[in-house]
This record gives sequence, structure tokens and C-alpha cells, in this order.
Amino acid sequence: MLKKLLVLLLVGMLCTSGFAAEKIKVVTTLSDFKNFAEIIGGDKVTVTSFLKGYQDAHHFEIKPSDIMRLSGADMLIINGADLDYWISPLIEKSRNPNIRKGTSGCIDASQGIPLLEVPATKVDRSMGDVHPYGNPHYNLSPAAMRIAFRHIADAMSARYPDYADYFQQNALAYEKKLDAKISEWKGLLKNSQETGIVVYHNSWSYFFNEFHLTAAGYIEPKPGLSPSPTYLNELIQKVNAQKKSGVILKETYENSDIAKYVASKVGYSVEEVPTYVGGTKEASDYISMVDTIVKTIARK
Ligand SMILES: [Zn+2]
Repeated sequence: MLKKLLVLLLVGMLCTSGFAAEKIKVVTTLSDFKNFAEIIGGDKVTVTSFLKGYQDAHHFEIKPSDIMRLSGADMLIINGADLDYWISPLIEKSRNPNIRKGTSGCIDASQGIPLLEVPATKVDRSMGDVHPYGNPHYNLSPAAMRIAFRHIADAMSARYPDYADYFQQNALAYEKKLDAKISEWKGLLKNSQETGIVVYHNSWSYFFNEFHLTAAGYIEPKPGLSPSPTYLNELIQKVNAQKKSGVILKETYENSDIAKYVASKVGYSVEEVPTYVGGTKEASDYISMVDTIVKTIARK
């Protein structure tokens, strides 16, 4: 009798835990793609991101625990376009065949997005320019991110056909929501063409293109290069010559002293804005992140 009870107990335990479907482990480089994979994957996935939204995606210090995390991943989603170039040695070190580049387990979200500012001649990273293959910051364009979102939804559906209907249903609902927000953002920014916008790093080309805005100037002379005092003086003169009122958009990890100095010379205000999901407390997901940026500019 006791033996029978033990067997029943054991079977019961196996049924409730041992055979329960394991969640798909997705790892992303950027927090924006974590947000997307969670929307698409719902309760079928657990997603973690290497970068927090307030960190500079151009740089990442690898820890042994990051290799472990990648070793156990079922899927990896990267930005591509060389922004998260640091993932390549990490993939090698993880020795995980599931997420190798070129396999269906490694999604490069930049595929299908036309890159801006692709240099005509080869640019060497050692020259200080951190955009050697073109501008990788398409995440600030909602239209480009809609393409990336669809690409991720289709890639996840193809890899896990049993869940494809569920993933597609989640994806379609989000696309509808995103489309409505894109129209709203266009409306909010339609009168912002005359606002002077100075930015620090050139993360903004896709955003400006989409909303027909232009940069009044860049604090970095080249992406990734610190400005010299001479360069800053030239920038101040250039911005003042435009005779606009405006704003300096500072990303969360950028130097606020330099931004404040330039602002004091051109009469602009400095606004810290999130440029990845989780960059500030308002930016809890992709839509609220873009909302924050758009409303900051539209207020000026
Ligand atoms: Zn950059």
C-alpha cells in the first residue's frame, strides 16, 4: 500500500513539474528587442537583455556570467549593423550551436532595414568613428523598428511552428497599436521643423528622417569622438547663426557638463531622453520611450 502511494506521489510530481513545457530562453543585446520578444512570445518565453536601457550600446564589458547566460540560450536577437559587435566573441565563447550567426536561432534585427550613412570608402574603427558600416541606430525610427519587429515575429514563428499562431496573434495586435502611435507621433511633431535640436552622438538620423526634422549640430565631431574646445566653439557659432530656440537632447550615458556648457552659450535647454527601453523610468517599453522623446521635442 505504501509503495503504491509513493508511486502515485511520484507520478503526480512528474506530471506537475517534470513534463511541463519549458519556456524558450531568449537573450537579446538591446532592451528594445527584449521588449519585442516578450510581446511576441508572451508566456512561452523568458527574455533577458545584456544591456540596460541607460547604457551605451557601443560598449559592453563581458563577464563570465554573460558567457554562461548565452550557453543556455535557445535564441539570440541582436541589433546588427556593428552596434553590438561585442556579441561575436561572446557567441564564440558560449560554444552554443543554437545561437550561432547564420542559424535560425540568431536573429539579426537589422535585416531588411536600409542603413543610412554607409561610408563610400572603408572607415577604420581605429580612426575613432564607431559607425564604420553606416549608422546602426535605427532603433529610434518607429518605422524601422516595425520592420525589425515583423522580422523577429516571423523568425520566432518559423523556429517554433507549434507556437506560430500564438506569436502571430500577439504580433498583429502590437503592430496595430504601433501604427496608431506612429500617426500620433507624426501629428505631434508636424510643427517642430523650426525647433533647433542639438544632439550629442549621431544616434538620431533615422528619427530625424522619419519625422522630417534636422539636427542643428552634433556635440561629437565624429560618432564616438570627444569634442575639442575649438570644435565646440565652431559648433556654438553654427548653432547661434541659425537663430532658433531649441533643445540639446542628451542620452542617459552622455556627458552633461559639455551639454550644459553648449546650452548656456546658445540659449537652449538640456533634456535627458531615453534612447533605449528602460533608459529612464518613463521608458518602460518601446512605445513609452518614443512617446517621451516626441513629447520632449514637441513641447519646445
Ligand atoms: Zn553610435
